[in-house]
Amino acid sequence: MSGQHHPSADILAAYASGVLEPGFGLVVAAHVDGCAQCRRQVASYEAISGDALCEIDDAAMGDDALSRVMSRLDGAAPEKLAMDRRPFAERLTLKPRKWVAPGVWVAAVETPHARTNRVYVLSVAPGMPTARHEHSGAEFCTVLKGAYRDELGLFRAGDFAATDHDVNHQPVVQGDEACVCLFATEGRLQPQGLLGRLAFAYADV
Ligand SMILES: [Zn+2]
Repeated sequence: MSGQHHPSADILAAYASGVLEPGFGLVVAAHVDGCAQCRRQVASYEAISGDALCEIDDAAMGDDALSRVMSRLDGAAPEKLAMDRRPFAERLTLKPRKWVAPGVWVAAVETPHARTNRVYVLSVAPGMPTARHEHSGAEFCTVLKGAYRDELGLFRAGDFAATDHDVNHQPVVQGDEACVCLFATEGRLQPQGLLGRLAFAYADV
């Protein structure tokens, strides 16, 4: 799963150094998980951060610091964390789905995130138009399944999109399977038209 649309270098650097808001970081992780190119880039940013650590001045330590560390080696080894090899989408914990129109559901993702942000999965069946909307803040999106097209291009499984408040768009699902996307959104979306406003208000995303 490696697409055509990747996070910018700035976003990857922020992700690698752990300064992205966690909800937005999760959406970047969904892309990086399936993109070898971005994984390499993240690894190189992490290596740079590691080098920076080596340049920090030495800290004063107690005379027994080394012996204390060595004594811990005799203790029980920490349990190894089992690697979760399921596809990224299956590793997400979703709250119950809310159907907002025939063929369209949203589900909030159970994950740490800022109170003012929303992290959710949206699934739209083919042939269903989504509400044209504007953004009141930044939005990250990674396509988990299917594809959509909007004014910015074609986005397929694995592709990443970052939009901000000056984008006004109406994505249209492509192909014959539902398009499932993971979103992190800052503030509230501003859907246009009564149906859009009702759907977003009901879904509370
Ligand atoms: Zn990538």
